[in-house]
Amino acid sequence: MARYTGAVCRLCRREGKKLFLKGDRCYSDMCALTRRASVPGQHGKSRKKVSEYGVQLRAKQSARRYYGVLEGQFLKYFEMAERQPGMAGENLLRILESRLDNVVYRAGFAASRKEARQLVRHGHYTLNGHKANIPSILVKAGDVIEVTSKSTDSDKLKAVVEANASRPRPKWLDVDTNKMTLKVVELPNREDIDLDVEEHLIVELYSK
Ligand code: SF4
Repeated sequence: MARYTGAVCRLCRREGKKLFLKGDRCYSDMCALTRRASVPGQHGKSRKKVSEYGVQLRAKQSARRYYGVLEGQFLKYFEMAERQPGMAGENLLRILESRLDNVVYRAGFAASRKEARQLVRHGHYTLNGHKANIPSILVKAGDVIEVTSKSTDSDKLKAVVEANASRPRPKWLDVDTNKMTLKVVELPNREDIDLDVEEHLIVELYSK
């Protein structure tokens, strides 16, 4: 599948906020946004009044980039969110949060969503006892994700889990770091999702 392969720190500079795409580096002084916060490109330093459409577009792009989802897939998630009962914006974030790669990242089994995606693709996890190597699988309440028996001995995975052990876990996931397993207790509500995105702007954008 096509994927953005450019410098990811540019995406943070474009959105003007940290998207946490590089793991540990994002929390250090090495963060490109800390060192150079201007929008990339020749006209990055000039200030322009942003239109209503521009604000809505940035909200959508931020959310899309947080989760590393391409445009077409993001639109499909939005259509799915609209069909669900409740607020479309909140539903959208809940769907994005329930992607397997995001859950692996949130559990601290990967330093970033990008790394989580790669680990899932390489077959390091099972979902309810079955091999699960598709990052976009949507998990549901009660699902159990485990590191495969072959991978629990992997020094790389152990190091990743150890390095991320102190990261706060969301309360909707029950994580056992020693056994490298997690259970989805429930799907998150909006207040459980610490994302700097105004989802109502995304709804407005797609409702035009
Ligand atoms: Fe974004 Fe992380 Fe790069 Fe900082 S280090 S600009 S948060 S990807």
